[in-house]
Amino acid sequence: MSYVDEIISQVTEKNPAEPEFHQAVREVLDSIRPVIEKNEEKFRKDALLERLTNPERQIKFRVPWVDDNGNVQVNTGYRVQFNSAIGPYKGGLRLHPSVNLGIIKFLGFEQIFKNSLTGLPIGGGKGGSDFDPKGKSDREVMAFCQSFMTELSKYIGADTDVPAGDIGTGAREIGYMFGQYKRLRGVFEGVLTGKGLSYGGSLARTEATGYGLLYIVDELLRSHGNDIKGKTAVVSGAGNVAIYAIEKATQLGAKVVTCSDSTGWVYDPDGIDVAALKEIKEVKRARLTEYKNYRPNSEYHEGRGVWQIKADIALPCATQNELGIEDAKALVANKVTVVAEGANMPTTEEATKYLQDNGVFFIPGKAANAGGVATSALEMSQNSERLSWSFEEVDRQLKGIMEGIYHNIDDAAKRYGFEDNFVVGANIAGFEKVLDAMNAQGIV
Ligand code: NDP
Repeated sequence: MSYVDEIISQVTEKNPAEPEFHQAVREVLDSIRPVIEKNEEKFRKDALLERLTNPERQIKFRVPWVDDNGNVQVNTGYRVQFNSAIGPYKGGLRLHPSVNLGIIKFLGFEQIFKNSLTGLPIGGGKGGSDFDPKGKSDREVMAFCQSFMTELSKYIGADTDVPAGDIGTGAREIGYMFGQYKRLRGVFEGVLTGKGLSYGGSLARTEATGYGLLYIVDELLRSHGNDIKGKTAVVSGAGNVAIYAIEKATQLGAKVVTCSDSTGWVYDPDGIDVAALKEIKEVKRARLTEYKNYRPNSEYHEGRGVWQIKADIALPCATQNELGIEDAKALVANKVTVVAEGANMPTTEEATKYLQDNGVFFIPGKAANAGGVATSALEMSQNSERLSWSFEEVDRQLKGIMEGIYHNIDDAAKRYGFEDNFVVGANIAGFEKVLDAMNAQGIV
């Protein structure tokens, strides 16, 4: 059996009931096969892939907090510090009832290669909890965040591990966690990113993932003699990534006709009204059913359906495995040309293959949504310098980083004879740097 296949089955066997982690490992290892096969005996002897697929450390802890009725609630907290070969661990904190160790490991594993692709010195990690901020009062969210940070603070620091936001962890949660860290440790340092502007946050961090997604799509199209102007796009999600993807797509001259949340989706033939969407989701924290009050011409549907709408560009920006084979078939039938992942692993393996086999340009999340973590790393730099850069400066660097990522993954794909296969290109380009650093640092 090849070394890669051996490790894929070992990971599946040793980490039962973690299907998302298996899926992420399979996807990465399958596409770095050409690199491994060039030097298989050495890598096997060094147990390189065993070290790559086993987190350096995983922390699981109890998070007790008191709700508004005076009852004690207990959630589970996680931090997986996956790989620090190229820098301090960096990756978000997900607060969602679906969170379990397997999901955090899948996200942490992906984060290693994504962070490497940014070209910045950040290792891979991820964390979170099965706590659901939805429907909780501000005081309850604060009680949870303080309890969560009381334990997490023992393992993180500006030069060791710098968490950020993710699903369910926005500016409010980061603020409460930062306050508790400062109080416990007595230091004001850049231990979290996604902070508010008044206490060390970076301009353009809120916009970064969505904007970055559009910068890489635009660079792909330009490299193929085309651009975004005049294109129609379908977007899923209505959170941080989706909102700013819609905003940038609109600024670049595209028309985005859909968005969605966990209960339903909107079709707006005139183009999504970003200001209305921001008010509904960022200010009122309400459901998308409200969108019709702002745009009477739009339609609201329960359930899922955005991938059935005809478009040139599809941007899944909600959550993992939200675009399956039937969705891919509908997109291909409707002649989509680009699918780029704003969310982490939103496209199933089968759907990804179908899209690629049918000539659709497919940019995986670890490249397409890397603008968020890249800008987080720029926030870390600003914190270290004790300076704040202008919006234009951060946005300019973000654009440069995303264009660089496109060319990096495109070159890697071509070098190994997989032209236009950006899954292979992203995995190889991300892996090469980590491999080099791991080799240089000996058996650790
Ligand atoms: P948010 O919590 O801001 O938004 C998530 C959106 O997806 C919401 O509209 C939510 O609906 C919807 N959603 C969440 N879970 C589900 C589900 N199980 N089924 C259907 N819809 C769902 O998160 P972000 O926008 O920050 O993150 C979205 C994705 O992007 C995630 O995969 C995240 O890991 C990834 N990502 C985020 C980055 C960032 O900088 N924020 C950086 C890189 C990747 P509802 O409103 O009903 O909750």
